[in-house]
Amino acid sequence: MQFHHHGYVSGDPRIQDAAGSGIDRPQELPDTMDVLIVGSGPAGMITAASLAQFPGVVTRLIERRPGRLAIGQADGIQSRSVETFQAFGFAERITAEAYRITQTVFWKPDPAAPHNIARAARAIDDPSGISEFPHLIVNQARVLDYFAEFAAHSPARITPDYGYEFVGLQVGSGEFPVTVRLRYTAGELQGQERVVKAKYVVGADGARSAVRSSINAVMAGEAANHAWGVMDILAITDFPDIRLKCAIQSGDGGNILLIPREGGSLFRMYIDLGVVSAEDQHNVRNTSIEQIIAKANQILHPYTLDVKSVAWHSVYEVGHRLTDRFDDVPIAEVGSRLPRVFITGDACHTHSAKAGQGMNVSMQDGFNLAWKLGHVLSGWSPESLLATYSAERQVIAKNLIDFDKQWSTLMATRPEDMADPTELEDFYVRTFEFPAGFMTEYQPSMVIAPATHQQLATGFPVGKRFKSAPVVRVCDANDVQLGHHHRADGRWRIYAFADSQAPTDAGAADAGVSLLNQWAEWISGAESPLARFTPQGADADAVFDVKVIYQEDYTEVELGQVPRVFLPRTGPFGLVDYEKVYAAGATDIFTERGLDRGGVVVVVRPDQYVANVLPLTATAELAKFFAGALLPQ
Ligand SMILES: Cc1cc2nc3c(=O)[nH]c(=O)nc-3n(C[C@H](O)[C@H](O)[C@H](O)COP(=O)(O)OP(=O)(O)OC[C@H]3O[C@@H](n4cnc5c(N)ncnc54)[C@H](O)[C@@H]3O)c2cc1C
Repeated sequence: MQFHHHGYVSGDPRIQDAAGSGIDRPQELPDTMDVLIVGSGPAGMITAASLAQFPGVVTRLIERRPGRLAIGQADGIQSRSVETFQAFGFAERITAEAYRITQTVFWKPDPAAPHNIARAARAIDDPSGISEFPHLIVNQARVLDYFAEFAAHSPARITPDYGYEFVGLQVGSGEFPVTVRLRYTAGELQGQERVVKAKYVVGADGARSAVRSSINAVMAGEAANHAWGVMDILAITDFPDIRLKCAIQSGDGGNILLIPREGGSLFRMYIDLGVVSAEDQHNVRNTSIEQIIAKANQILHPYTLDVKSVAWHSVYEVGHRLTDRFDDVPIAEVGSRLPRVFITGDACHTHSAKAGQGMNVSMQDGFNLAWKLGHVLSGWSPESLLATYSAERQVIAKNLIDFDKQWSTLMATRPEDMADPTELEDFYVRTFEFPAGFMTEYQPSMVIAPATHQQLATGFPVGKRFKSAPVVRVCDANDVQLGHHHRADGRWRIYAFADSQAPTDAGAADAGVSLLNQWAEWISGAESPLARFTPQGADADAVFDVKVIYQEDYTEVELGQVPRVFLPRTGPFGLVDYEKVYAAGATDIFTERGLDRGGVVVVVRPDQYVANVLPLTATAELAKFFAGALLPQ
């Protein structure tokens, strides 16, 4: 964490200086704004938290509830989400209060006594070390609290405007082309309507999204035909694996997904309530908690569950549905006009809760969209950038729905009806990377280059998320994770992995044979992307965070010989930023990530996805890439 560089900070260093729209931010919802976000769920809150780093953008978030979410909904946090939390600075704190999943245990009918259940198999979580972060369980409300804190501590000082319900919108023209109708849901004005205007609207208003209806986007897919009871409880039981994640299938066809919760006692049970017929008219939703508990005891036989307290319970029917588009541009008009209204999260895709995907994928929707809105509204990027959101996220949502259909069908299948008795756990292990959030691969676009030089960095696939690895920070010899310095601040990252010549070989440096030093000279030049796309008067690293990683041991890297572009002077005092110079370290990142010893440049987008891989000599290609994604300043 960098602080004091703008003057001594005595209080909480996570609270950044207010700036732009964050100074004297009006308490009351103003009549006009740049971005209006509807809904304070995971999709809405990550969008607001990301945009809070763009103080030049006036962002407001409305929520019809009178205050924060207190309980319920999601609890499954995939390790890709924890990587994202690291960018917002709260991965460590939320991990400290969460339950950590280490494995999933599969229980099935006891072959010797089929009316009893018996432990059948274990699947270790993340056997291949897909991420340095764990798979966690913690309540959705806490995730939202951390995003809310980050948004309130950021330069734009964003806090939700509770008590406003989105009613409808019209897209017209002018400076604020989107006219939005709202209704007060609390206070003396309750029930009254109000109109505000925005440049862009983000619908993060959940499965029954009114924003989606107002842009006539259509949810397609099968209606809800399977019901599940879910309860968060405190109970006494003799079930031995009560503190492990378990998939339980009983002889009489009932099954349970058991999720231990944070804090050491609470646990969640998803209990299969079976197929719902069309004639059911949602009556299944009236299933009482007593009936759910009775069903759980039936499935757990011969073990028993004595429930002492029910923190939360619900019955929900699972439908797998996907919207036809993620913004207000009809498919026939894609390419001929640009979006003004976006939808994210459950407003776009609904699926079962058991794969623990909803919150995780919803957050990645918001994380993908927000920096693009920030760049366009800050004048850094052309509006065409906004069209990449729907194109990128639609595909991911489709893959998610397909995956969840298979998983929830398998979960609801009786063991004796399976082709292979180990089908469930085999599927879990085989597809682990998907639910963990690591199968996302964005296709070439204005912000994803073709993988022409992929062989130079086989461990950083273009289009996939940047997989961090340990290095040594030269200035203080600390072992750190290279990717953990990628904060959610809307900046591009350019990692220059040095050729084996630099920097120790002073002779070589002067003789100009070090490709890295030649690249550093170019990137510091007047024609480089840094000069062309960094706003006048802004810090040298305001748009591009450029880092160097040397192959040598840190003791052989003399900071005095490191090109200045990696030691920029920033902030009001023009201090040197020492946190951009690294060395390979004990677990050599060049080996770990298959990096060419001749040097390679890896470009990473603000949402942590690898956008380009190039040799150090391909400066024209790098300039061309950024000329396609950014506007000259
Ligand atoms: C019972 C249950 C269990 C779940 N378990 C899991 C799990 O274990 N793991 C997982 O990943 N996912 C789970 N999910 C799904 C997960 O909760 C959702 O996918 C996630 O919350 C979606 O986030 P969102 O921001 O898109 O929408 P939501 O979280 O639904 O947030 C939408 C917000 O918009 C507000 N809103 C709605 N309409 C309006 C309006 N017109 N005006 C103003 N505000 C409005 C709502 O009040 C709400 O706060 C579960 C869902 C349920 C219902």
